[in-house]
Amino acid sequence: MYLSKSKYCKAVQCNKILWLDKYKSEVANPVDNSSVLDNGTKVGQLAKELFGKYLDVTFSENLSDMINETKEFLKNDICNITEASFDYNGNFCSVDILKKNKNKYEIYEVKSSTEISDIYLDDISYQYYVLNGLGLKVTKACIVHINSKYVRHGDLELDKLFNIVDVTDIVLSKQEEVNNKIDEINKYMENKKEEDRDIDFYCFKPYECPYFKYCSSNLEEHNVFDIRGMSIKKKFELYKKGIYKYTDLLDEKINDKYLEQIDFELNDREDKIIIKNIKEFLNTISYPLYFLDFETFQESIPSYDDISPYEQIPFQYSLHILDSKDSELKHTEFLTESNIDPRRDLALKLVNDIPSNVCVLAYNMSFEKNVIKKLAYLYPELSEHLMSIYNNMKDLMIPFKNRDYYTKNMYGSYSIKYVLPALFPNDESLDYHNLDMVHNGSEASNTYMTLTNYSKKEQEIIRKNMLKYCYLDTYAMVKVLSKLYEVVENDKK
Ligand code: SF4
Repeated sequence: MYLSKSKYCKAVQCNKILWLDKYKSEVANPVDNSSVLDNGTKVGQLAKELFGKYLDVTFSENLSDMINETKEFLKNDICNITEASFDYNGNFCSVDILKKNKNKYEIYEVKSSTEISDIYLDDISYQYYVLNGLGLKVTKACIVHINSKYVRHGDLELDKLFNIVDVTDIVLSKQEEVNNKIDEINKYMENKKEEDRDIDFYCFKPYECPYFKYCSSNLEEHNVFDIRGMSIKKKFELYKKGIYKYTDLLDEKINDKYLEQIDFELNDREDKIIIKNIKEFLNTISYPLYFLDFETFQESIPSYDDISPYEQIPFQYSLHILDSKDSELKHTEFLTESNIDPRRDLALKLVNDIPSNVCVLAYNMSFEKNVIKKLAYLYPELSEHLMSIYNNMKDLMIPFKNRDYYTKNMYGSYSIKYVLPALFPNDESLDYHNLDMVHNGSEASNTYMTLTNYSKKEQEIIRKNMLKYCYLDTYAMVKVLSKLYEVVENDKK
């Protein structure tokens, strides 16, 4: 089989991924990794500048063109070549950065993550194998990855943004393994008959396999992989002992919350509502009440000052306001123009919209609190007010996280995306599926980050959809809170 870096790495995870890709790719479940790819592209581009001047091998569907262009560059003693491409016995690879010093070579594999994972070592070991097989003297193999501790001040400092880790010794120690693995892959791929391979931990590590649903389709509908919150490791521990059906799991010593999820779904239980605890939660809330939800984006390469790679940067919020429990619902919102640092404008509007010392409600408030704390640190003149918002925040998730209110249709989750349809199954106005374009936080973030790719007119429509999504997030909180009041009221009757 004609191998590449990515194919080799897939086979390291599981040979069958490669086999299904070739013979049965239609059974895959798509995994959305568009933002990961986008981050990877930006990081790759920037890392090319790490060692000064370089020549880029032109990408071509025809790999021979890339290989021939690389040969030309090497002949002309170009010191730094990016995407340098090679083929050794049907094993192809493009090296992110190749440094040439006379007849010695260094290879650099660029990753957009903040740490090194084992699969990166397999990746670069495969590249070394290819170059070494062609007789090139590779003296150094390094992984280049993002330094999470970097904070941007002014121009990007590439030497600080990237960590360069020398992994030559590990790469050398893995060469026999690479050789054997390539033989194994070739034999495996020659077989046209599908292997009956059992699922295992490797289906999720290093990446969630798109074929998991297909490979686990023989399991009955309710099984251990449907349990929310249990670690993958524990799920496979039970699976390997043959304990994976809900009915079998009921006799296991597992967390009460898992047992409760199983019991509710198996036995079609009535809703569980612990009035006393819900009352206690409601007693912590005071009016006027502000329902707050942020949308944020993350960048591998910080665009603005005082930001680290992958830090959450707020660009939008929705705020519903109730002056008293029965008063008219008010709403305000913020959505920055794209391509400008949104933080100061957002912080200014936030302190204008939310007075000091009022009760603020969020769902999973640690996220909102983190955002506010960073803004307070960044803008000392707003710090006191922002920290007052921070200190007066309450978490609407608590009654659901504590299972004071639980229904079988929450499927073990306390995310608002599960809680809301479980509490309001027939309310179309609360159904995220009815929204256009933006249905969840990551879509909001991706949409914001790609907004400038669209025409002005298109941007207007997209922005409206973004506002509608964020509006629903806080409106959902208003409705969830009203439901809590309702069950308490009904209990009194
Ligand atoms: S789901 Fe698991 S067994 Fe099936 S192809 Fe993926 S990794 Fe292999």
